[in-house]
Amino acid sequence: MLFKNVVGQNELKERLISTVVEKRVSHAQIFEGTMGYGGLPIALAYAQFISCKNRGADDSCGVCPSCVKYNKLIHPDLHFVFPVNTTKKIKEKPVSDHFLPEWRQIVLDKKYFNEQDWYESIGIDKQGNISAYEADKILYKLNLKPFESDDKIMIIWLPERLNSTSANRLLKLIEEPPSNTIFFFITESPNKVLPTIYSRTQRIRLHPIESESMIEALKKSNFNETETYTASRLSGGDYLRAIQILETSDSAKVHFDNFVQFMRLSYQNDILGLLDWAELMSSTGREKQKSFLIFAERLVRENFILNKNADIVYLGFEELEWAKKFSRFITENNITEIYNQLNICIPQISQNGNAKLIFTDLALKMKELIRPK
Ligand SMILES: [Zn+2]
Repeated sequence: MLFKNVVGQNELKERLISTVVEKRVSHAQIFEGTMGYGGLPIALAYAQFISCKNRGADDSCGVCPSCVKYNKLIHPDLHFVFPVNTTKKIKEKPVSDHFLPEWRQIVLDKKYFNEQDWYESIGIDKQGNISAYEADKILYKLNLKPFESDDKIMIIWLPERLNSTSANRLLKLIEEPPSNTIFFFITESPNKVLPTIYSRTQRIRLHPIESESMIEALKKSNFNETETYTASRLSGGDYLRAIQILETSDSAKVHFDNFVQFMRLSYQNDILGLLDWAELMSSTGREKQKSFLIFAERLVRENFILNKNADIVYLGFEELEWAKKFSRFITENNITEIYNQLNICIPQISQNGNAKLIFTDLALKMKELIRPK
């Protein structure tokens, strides 16, 4: 991660850079603030800058051997610890190393994400934690000499999820760190971090992202210009929140059009059209794909209710006009299976399944379900 790819936080970037230039990087620092302010991206940019072999005045070079490995998060002296839990694949003693590929993918793809996004991406539906097994791994790794850099850097994401055994084992390391070791903690809830750990770290408080930087970053993500101003204002400097506002504001109309087209192609048994439709759906982001599926579930449900002549239907004007003609196709014979088919796609998308395959499969099943026999 380069500093220039971190949204805003310009004052903090300068401050962190000066600690490297003046050789006074503290060995344990805690970045505090809501995830959308960018604690993780900025800590990563800081770590890359510390390790870069050819630093510029205000950023890493991006191309030296160290940066090349940092760009893929595979530098042997960069270590990650984050909350995990058991999954279908990892049935016991889960530790961060089990989930490194998924971790690299979410950090590189999304840059900004929160605890819930992380759990969804590895397919756990309970809270994760940083266990005592993890603490043993940390002790082992930090007793190794640095391989390629002057320093080993350990990024501990969400130290509020350290259980007390693991926290106590870590404490000694932070009090008397092995030489050339730097800890970066990234927390959203400093008041939940064990006080013994918290009191031994240097605090870096993140502030809301400046609105000019926010607008500039949102424009780069291809959002409508007028809406970016509103979203930036409503977001309170939280990049994740701004994205969420934008994705939900323009999406209802787009989802509706996509759904109507999907149903028309299914009814017409237009296989080529459905394949194109699946291709189009897979080219949007995962958040949009998930929100489309949730939207589609709602429309299917409401159309069924309308078909049953229920009085209360939660549909917008345009949706209702269309549903008056369409609802007869959603009956007790197909509602359950249609709903199930939409619903199983949501965790598949969350877990980074192949979106094109998922939507193609959905499209081909839907045409069987929607056409009157
Ligand atoms: Zn470099």
